[in-house]
Amino acid sequence: MRIAFFDTHRYERRAFDEANAGHEHEIVYHEPRLTPDTASLAQGCPAVCSFVNDRVTAETLEILVRGGTKLLALRSAGFNHVDLVAAGRLGIPVVRVPEYSPHAVAEHTVMLALAVIRRVHRAWARVREGNFSLEGLMGFDLFQKRVGIVGTGKIGRVTARIFNGFGCDVVAYDIYPNEQAAKECGFSYVELDELYRTSDIISLHVPLTPKTHHLVDGPAIKSMKRGVVIVNTGRGALIDTRALIDGLKSGQVGAAGLDVYEEEEGLFFRDLSDRVIQDDVLARLLMFPNILVTAHQAFLTREALANIAETTLANVTAFERGELLVNEVRAEDVLRG
Ligand code: NAD
Repeated sequence: MRIAFFDTHRYERRAFDEANAGHEHEIVYHEPRLTPDTASLAQGCPAVCSFVNDRVTAETLEILVRGGTKLLALRSAGFNHVDLVAAGRLGIPVVRVPEYSPHAVAEHTVMLALAVIRRVHRAWARVREGNFSLEGLMGFDLFQKRVGIVGTGKIGRVTARIFNGFGCDVVAYDIYPNEQAAKECGFSYVELDELYRTSDIISLHVPLTPKTHHLVDGPAIKSMKRGVVIVNTGRGALIDTRALIDGLKSGQVGAAGLDVYEEEEGLFFRDLSDRVIQDDVLARLLMFPNILVTAHQAFLTREALANIAETTLANVTAFERGELLVNEVRAEDVLRG
């Protein structure tokens, strides 16, 4: 089946080309993100493959349908960038990759926590400049610290298990607690306000839904332990960035490791190093010495990419053969969250 890929980069093309040897779809790679302005590039392609910062609004979907698109295949787990209600109305099934490597994201999460706690990003820059001073690089032991995991799905559970290995006291919150997972991964469930009040490190692993939008806002940050370390590899808008900046300025937030940013669309995945950042909030955020931002790369391991490519193409193959779409996602899934 002819598939139009949007927002594609060299590193993923290779994985998709390799996986496609077993599927034999006709892949057309496009560099631009999928938006109403670029949707017509998919003209004549029954399948469209999109990534997390595409803007798959009702308008985009209507243009796709007019061009002959019949399937939207997301090469991501998250689907908050898609208007699923409109997709349902237009009769376009949306499939995704629900799991590719929770380890990739969980390991990046723990790396971000360790890096900001032990000031590795600052140490790296200093040593390169011949500055071997240790002033300002004091960290703290992870051992016996309380880690609060918000969302105990696939990624949250692996993250909990890794922190457990450091000898942390891991607590978690989820609207659907899973006591079996708690036992296996070594954490206990608490209410969200207790998690905020008592955790030394807080890590976010819930999907972005209307209920989780700005889950970490000003009042939430005020209720946290002074000096709390916040890590977000979930979605940018789980955190009210302005409130985080206030927290960092006042010292209420001790450090933050972020792989996602609420206004990342149009910034992340691009080389903008010869331009001036126009986003003043992000520019302010990047000024803090106790913050480390990566540009939505937590998923980026060889293993994860190979799995993403295989599942995405298998989803298209299943659609082509008229088989059950086991990885379909519908508007009801969002409302459930
Ligand atoms: P998952 O569906 O396995 O787990 C999500 C968990 O969140 C579930 O247990 C669910 O019950 C819980 N949840 C949903 N709404 C909630 C709410 N309102 N309050 C509390 N808990 C709630 O998902 P996952 O695979 O663990 O991924 C988690 C998120 O990580 C994804 O939704 C995606 O946004 C993000 N992600 C980021 C990257 C990256 O590269 N940075 C990669 C993959 C996924």
